[in-house]
Amino acid sequence: MTTMMSAKNLSKIYHRGSEEVRALDGVSFEARSGEMSAVIGPSGSGKTTLLNIMGCLDNPTAGSLHVGGEEIFGGKKELSEKQLTLIRRRIFGYIFQKFYLIPTLTVRENIMLPSTFYKSPAAGKSPEEVMKLLGIDKRAGHLPGELSGGEMQRVAIARALINSPKVILADEPTGSLDSRRTGEIKEILRALASQGMTVVMVTHNLELAKAADRVIELSDGKMV
Ligand code: ADP
Ligand code: MG
Repeated sequence: MTTMMSAKNLSKIYHRGSEEVRALDGVSFEARSGEMSAVIGPSGSGKTTLLNIMGCLDNPTAGSLHVGGEEIFGGKKELSEKQLTLIRRRIFGYIFQKFYLIPTLTVRENIMLPSTFYKSPAAGKSPEEVMKLLGIDKRAGHLPGELSGGEMQRVAIARALINSPKVILADEPTGSLDSRRTGEIKEILRALASQGMTVVMVTHNLELAKAADRVIELSDGKMV
């Protein structure tokens, strides 16, 4: 199994007025392809900050990040915003607790959205393919408002898969779902990892964390 992401000694300080918030304090973390990792810890412990930095959506105050052998943060030269945007589109699929579907677009249109901005040079998938994979092909023409929460999250996962990402990052993906839907999402994420993807999720859910190959626990921005 190859190391897909390697974070070393990440720290993040946010400024809130004159106050400094140390959201991450010396966190190191590796995620491999074919593995599912879970980031756990109480609210405010830095989980989202860590996930956002690993996904190149936020930059660390100190420390380094390598993704697929590429140096993203902590090197001699800083990447431009344009380079970061390309890395985000090429490497990552993002899943959030609140789904963030566009209410006026159909399921199929929502899923296709990332592929209208970026054509994956690797085999991008067709919307039909990913809808089938997630069991939502019968919903293709529906609007998000006509779906259950579990279905909405499966649409969001399908959207994250459309450009064939190498890494799936999920921030509390079952936070809005009941336990049965949580079990379904767990199985889907496990299946993606066993197909060779790198899956990293933030979760409060014990069942989900138990299904992970690797767990990192944060408390006040530090590893426990
Ligand atoms: P978690 O996801 O574990 O709940 P976060 O990573 O969201 O924790 O937040 C960690 C700490 O950083 C919290 O104290 C939070 O208030 C603070 N924080 C997060 N984002 C910002 C921001 N953009 N500006 C200021 N403080 C922030
Ligand atoms: Mg969070």
